[in-house]
Amino acid sequence: MSSAKTLLAGSLGEQREGLDRGDVRALDLALASLDRISARAALAAVVARRDEAALASAEASDKRIAAGKPLSALDGIPVLLKDNIVQAGESASCASRILENYVSPFDAGVTERLQAAGAIIVGRTNMDEFAMGSSTENSIHGPSHNPWGTDRTCGGSSGGSAAAVSAGLVPLAFGSDTGGSIRQPASFCGVAGLRPTYGRVSRWGLVAYASSLDQIGPLARSVSDCAIALAAIAGHDERDSTSIPEAAPTLGDLLKSDASKGDLSGVVIGLPREYFVEEGVEPGVLARVREAIASLEAAGATFKEISLPHTAYTIATYYLIATAEASSNLARFDGVRYGRRADHVKDLADLYERSRSEGFSAEVKRRILLGTYVLSAGYYDAYYVKAQRVRTLIRRDFEAAFETCDAILTPTTPEIAFPLGAKSDDPLSMYLSDVYTVSANLAGLPGLSVPCGQSEGMPVGFQLLGPALGEAAILRIGDAYQSRTEHHLASPPEKI
Ligand code: GLN
Repeated sequence: MSSAKTLLAGSLGEQREGLDRGDVRALDLALASLDRISARAALAAVVARRDEAALASAEASDKRIAAGKPLSALDGIPVLLKDNIVQAGESASCASRILENYVSPFDAGVTERLQAAGAIIVGRTNMDEFAMGSSTENSIHGPSHNPWGTDRTCGGSSGGSAAAVSAGLVPLAFGSDTGGSIRQPASFCGVAGLRPTYGRVSRWGLVAYASSLDQIGPLARSVSDCAIALAAIAGHDERDSTSIPEAAPTLGDLLKSDASKGDLSGVVIGLPREYFVEEGVEPGVLARVREAIASLEAAGATFKEISLPHTAYTIATYYLIATAEASSNLARFDGVRYGRRADHVKDLADLYERSRSEGFSAEVKRRILLGTYVLSAGYYDAYYVKAQRVRTLIRRDFEAAFETCDAILTPTTPEIAFPLGAKSDDPLSMYLSDVYTVSANLAGLPGLSVPCGQSEGMPVGFQLLGPALGEAAILRIGDAYQSRTEHHLASPPEKI
């Protein structure tokens, strides 16, 4: 008999078994998760909890399980949602003053699917305002702390979700990735994080930052748990016009069976020359990634050098397109239709101006200004159109590369988690945190970050990129790696 507290730290498979055997109740797991959220409140990973509603759902789950009819692998499992994935009746602040008191009247597509799968949504996680950032410091709820070193950031913008999984508050949390916001915090906190192919998972009810780049995905301790989560949330949604009309993959589609999972013979993995420049990467990070390569080679994978020639332009292209789309998406927050409205205004123009000036932080304003500028008549061709052209070239680089390899491996980030405050006054250096992750978003591809050890006591991750709808390729490689190594089983120290 395992106690709920012990089981909460286990894998989704162990939790399923424990629940189905009747060792623990879903109610006990939910209570253990809520207790853990209180015990680690100082991490500021969770910004809203739903004790009563979660416990009621857990009781309903227990009835189904007792009747031998769990809805899915996730029935009775506590999960957290990033604060930009809406749930009916719950707040969705997006860490912004402008949405501070906003309560969503509807469920996101992902929220609906998780509930239909029986998952117990226990609360909402901290993030950078409107998912703009790489450190979860830019939040009205204050910065989240990295469980591995609480004076360090947990990455961003889905930092609360990464910290929550890393510190064992829940086994599974969801984030959004526009330029790396699932993979970079996963890497900083020593957990696995999957950004699915663009269009694989519904964006209905995900508060939009940059619509052509945004995608929801899971963060969990293991790659196989990410696969279970993807199978639950993927699939076509008519309400998202960019949703791919394909059925959700099953777990069997995404992972190899137990007997064959450690074997990668026949798998070819590309190493892009442009991503392995020594000056760009911390030596400790590079060393861990090289060890991961050796371990995948031992599993039978073959590595080859490849080239992604337009890599140098990815950050510039990303920040032109992302800010352009953000300036348009965030126009809806005007104090009239949504969110906070300024008091005692003179007239309509004053209402717009003051509501927006008071509601958005400096970083969000910077991006709205930049985006408006690149879309303005005089500069549209010079910046926005050019960025779209380069985006096509970046996508073609990947198409050519995937003619010769099954997946691509890179470091997830050039560095380990940086100290809180280290980059707050230097937006450019913050933007460079995403140098290895943004290309997948520009090309619409799936990406997975897998923990591969530590440098200076902080986690390091490597990234696997796959072709469009090629989640199975990268999940199988990541899972094979984890079946041969133990880095994903390491837990952060129990302090704070
Ligand atoms: N850090 C990047 C940005 O600030 C990526 C954010 C994200 O993926 N949501 O735009």
